Amino acid sequence: MLKDLETEQMHCLELNRARLFVVLLSSLTTDLVKQNIERLAHEDPDYQALFERAKEMESKYIVRERLVYLLGQDEGRMLLVVPNNADLKHQIIMEAHNTPYAGHKGQTATLAFLKKHFTWSKMDSDVRDFIKHCDVCQKNKRDYAPEHGLLQPLPTPTQPWEVLGIDFVTGLPKPRQDMMPFL
Ligand SMILES: [Zn+2]
Repeated sequence: MLKDLETEQMHCLELNRARLFVVLLSSLTTDLVKQNIERLAHEDPDYQALFERAKEMESKYIVRERLVYLLGQDEGRMLLVVPNNADLKHQIIMEAHNTPYAGHKGQTATLAFLKKHFTWSKMDSDVRDFIKHCDVCQKNKRDYAPEHGLLQPLPTPTQPWEVLGIDFVTGLPKPRQDMMPFL
């Protein structure tokens, strides 16, 4: 009975993973990025080597259609292992950051979204660099400094010499010996 229950649970888990796979690439990426992921994964010998290794490590990876997914910490979550290609990573970050639904979120939110679905080494620094150079974000950067208060005018003196102001001017060039400086 217990064995049947475990088998049933495993079956449900597999189904969930399969469903996740169906929605993963189709909903998270445009067709162009999806094609690039698949093409680069198939062309990259390192990725294919990982693909072969991953088939032996079912507790850590899942393979589907020659793509490798790392099993995440959350039950049933699968993170697509992205082929090591700078342009491809750039495209994926762009989709997670620049598209209208992404809305140029900050580094933390963009990373949190990507880490739910993808994995590659140095993702943090890639996202940081991308946002640092994002034209829209730089132009609309919020000023986190405290708001400036209103200008406070000085009280008006009531009689001459009540207030004396002195401006010191320094750093002037030294005069020649035969010249008398004056201001
Ligand atoms: Zn941006």
